[in-house]
Amino acid sequence: MDFTTGATLQAVCEEKKISIAQAMKEREMTLGNVTEQSVMDRIGVAWKIMKDSATTPIAEPRKSIGGLIGGEAKMMKEYRESGKNLCGEMLSRAMSYAMGVLEVNATMGLIVAAPTAGSSGVVPGALLAYQEVKGVSDEVIYNGILNASALGYLLMRNASVAGAEAGCQAEVGAASAMAASALVEMEGGTPEMCLNAAAMALSNLLGLACDPIAGLVESPCQTRNSIGVANAYTAAEMILAGVKLPVPFDEMAEAMLRVGKSLPFELRETALGGCAGTPTGCALGCKICKK
Ligand code: SF4
Repeated sequence: MDFTTGATLQAVCEEKKISIAQAMKEREMTLGNVTEQSVMDRIGVAWKIMKDSATTPIAEPRKSIGGLIGGEAKMMKEYRESGKNLCGEMLSRAMSYAMGVLEVNATMGLIVAAPTAGSSGVVPGALLAYQEVKGVSDEVIYNGILNASALGYLLMRNASVAGAEAGCQAEVGAASAMAASALVEMEGGTPEMCLNAAAMALSNLLGLACDPIAGLVESPCQTRNSIGVANAYTAAEMILAGVKLPVPFDEMAEAMLRVGKSLPFELRETALGGCAGTPTGCALGCKICKK
């Protein structure tokens, strides 16, 4: 079992009448020569790390090494619990969790790079909030992770998941596409709908610059992860409602790579443009460097 594009993934799923999660699981078993139990055990370990990294900073906020972030996940939780939040229960939780994972990453803690450290909050944030609000089992979430992994694999293979190569659209954009696809599958959507949700999530963040202040994966990376979950939910909901993006996933992945390569180097993780290049971003960069 192998697939190398969204189109071949969809064809395999339709021919065998299986989900994207099942196709990814079978691929792992075949290429890794491992049992189904072994694959699921590894997914279980990843989910535990994801959950810990999403929730620990809410209980124990940490200041990042560069000092630009720390405590935001807890602030988001407290605001949600005040009853004044604008975004609704699931999205507010997801934002808080996604931002928490970035706090763990920025303090050299353990995260799951899904697909990268800078975008590691999106998939756990989206899935954990979904699990808590919908009350679904870990098994449902494991399938979501398998689904997201398939999309991450395709983007890594056929486009890019590196901010230095293709901007933040390739990191937070890819993570958001992975989460959107997983949400659609967990909600009963078809493989075609999952791929279209991923394409829509990519299209919504097309052109997003990579511009970390002081070159640290702290700001705006943390808040970008909360945008990543919002975009994932938005794309998933539109697809589930029957809205379609006319551009197929494979073409959108190619477009993302082309747009990324056409970004000036200042907007590809060099910390010279965007937020990093503002007077305040430069001043913070100098201050952190002198520490
Ligand atoms: S701004 Fe750059 S470093 Fe930060 S999350 Fe996006 S791609 Fe990663």
